[in-house]
Amino acid sequence: MWETMYNAKGVGLAAPQIGLPIRLFLVDTSPFADDEDFSPEEQKKLSGFKKAFINAHIEEETGNEWPFNEGCLSIPDIREDIKRKDTITITYLDEEFESHTETHDGLLARVIQHEYDHIEGILFTDKLSPLKKRMLKGRLNNISKGNIIVDYRMRFPNLKKGR
Ligand SMILES: [Zn+2]
Repeated sequence: MWETMYNAKGVGLAAPQIGLPIRLFLVDTSPFADDEDFSPEEQKKLSGFKKAFINAHIEEETGNEWPFNEGCLSIPDIREDIKRKDTITITYLDEEFESHTETHDGLLARVIQHEYDHIEGILFTDKLSPLKKRMLKGRLNNISKGNIIVDYRMRFPNLKKGR
């Protein structure tokens, strides 16, 4: 799964995105560590953050909502500003099945929230206003029909096999 994520140049990947019905997601935010849009303090937090989250549960989301332009490997070419709360407390098992409870904020929290949504069956486009959803409908339909060119392999569960 790590390989799939890096091939697609993602900072996160959830098992349901590759057809695995399990509550697992991966996060590696190190590509953001050189991004000068973030403070040195935030860059430090983002560098080297590489974790697997098994059976994660977000216990609490606090702080002010802030917008960030999100994208998703499952919805190529669509990026939208999504508001999320700043701080989360999450409980999960690591790859050794050790339990952890951690609090994260800023972009790190956001990547985790985005991936967590995947294991809950939620895409970031579900959070858009009804108007925005209508505007994107055609493009989303094309993606679900496989009418899209991407540089990584995608699965299109709605496509009928054979011809
Ligand atoms: Zn995603």
